[in-house]
Amino acid sequence: MNSMVLVINCGSSSLKFAVMDMAAQRPVLVGLAEKLGLDDAFITFKQDDERISFPLSHPDHRAAMQAMTDHLRQCGLMESIAAVGHRVVHGGEVFKASALIDDAVLAEIEKCVHLAPLHNPAHLIGIHHALEYFHDLPQVAAFDTAFHQTMPEHAYLYAVPMELYRQHGVRRYGFHGSSYRYALREAARILAKPEAELALVCAHLGNGASVAAIRAGQSVDTSMGLTPLEGLVMGTRSGDVDPGLFNHLADEMGMSALQTTAILNKQSGLLGLSGLSSDCRELEQAAAQGHAGAKRALEKFCYQLAKHLAGQLVAAGAIDALIFTGGIGENSAWVRARTIEWMAPLGFALNPAANQDCTRGASGFIHAEGSLPVLVINANEELMIALDTAQLAGLTQTTTQPVALS
Ligand code: AMP
Repeated sequence: MNSMVLVINCGSSSLKFAVMDMAAQRPVLVGLAEKLGLDDAFITFKQDDERISFPLSHPDHRAAMQAMTDHLRQCGLMESIAAVGHRVVHGGEVFKASALIDDAVLAEIEKCVHLAPLHNPAHLIGIHHALEYFHDLPQVAAFDTAFHQTMPEHAYLYAVPMELYRQHGVRRYGFHGSSYRYALREAARILAKPEAELALVCAHLGNGASVAAIRAGQSVDTSMGLTPLEGLVMGTRSGDVDPGLFNHLADEMGMSALQTTAILNKQSGLLGLSGLSSDCRELEQAAAQGHAGAKRALEKFCYQLAKHLAGQLVAAGAIDALIFTGGIGENSAWVRARTIEWMAPLGFALNPAANQDCTRGASGFIHAEGSLPVLVINANEELMIALDTAQLAGLTQTTTQPVALS
């Protein structure tokens, strides 16, 4: 039976994919082509804890797609794939949910390129290659922005002239939608409450990081905006800065908007503050050995995160749980502890032992008795994309029935 969905996340220099077994709802094979565009491009496949890497014949997306399909054939998986799902960062205001790809959908994704010039063109390359290599399969686009299309006007507007919104799409869109939807689905299961009745504040903390408020199962606010630069301190992104910075750096250093944007995206965040690394785990190790920059970066990360979470509480109302997810959210007991320390006046406290236990794939409640619930959930964006793909391709009828954990 064809019960597999291939999930593709195509970046400008990478192609990440997972073959999801929809019956077991887990990946049977994952892979990553890296350094596309450079001479030493290679592809890695991981299956059953076994990892193999090959150099690519050409350092481009087509060669990566060819190597992936060759490998799928060799493993006997090709015949089982019934549909392909693509992660697409920006769906503008048009896409409020995932969509079955056809010419009209492709044209709309193209129209969103000006909103995500770093991401959408790469996704389109991946989609076009996949349409060629899997021409007889239904294909679906799942948008990072779609979940946040329920945000009310007071959350999504910037206080700028309305023409900028109406004519140029200048508004807050929000990202990490697939991660938040998965967190919501898991929270409904764990709390045994329907999604539509849940109020949550959720922190997705990976290399990119954001928080979101969910009320009655819908996104009502989030920290990322027009682009993924707004909001929290991230691996290499600054998060919130005064927009006056652009003019200041132009006056002081003759810096162009493009140069300042590059600094804010690539040299800021944990990397900029620490002068050492964008990687939270490395910074924790360095901080433990007394590295001042690492301590400074982690402290600012947690403080900014706590301030944003507090803001999202306004949007979410009386919450059922605060959720940590993403590489840092799932693994860093230190970041969770420091962040919750800042949030003590708002009714949060951790159970230190439960907090320490939630790393490397373990998830569960980590709050102390009497605290508002705090939950760690392992992110699974691929599964969410695969579920949407299976549903839109007519492979399944998805129902999310909350079931209590024993
Ligand atoms: P992601 O983008 O979701 O893969 O998350 C990547 C981030 O998670 C990096 O900053 C990693 O350093 C961080 N991370 C992964 N494992 C740990 C860990 N055990 N402790 C602290 N941070 C971690």
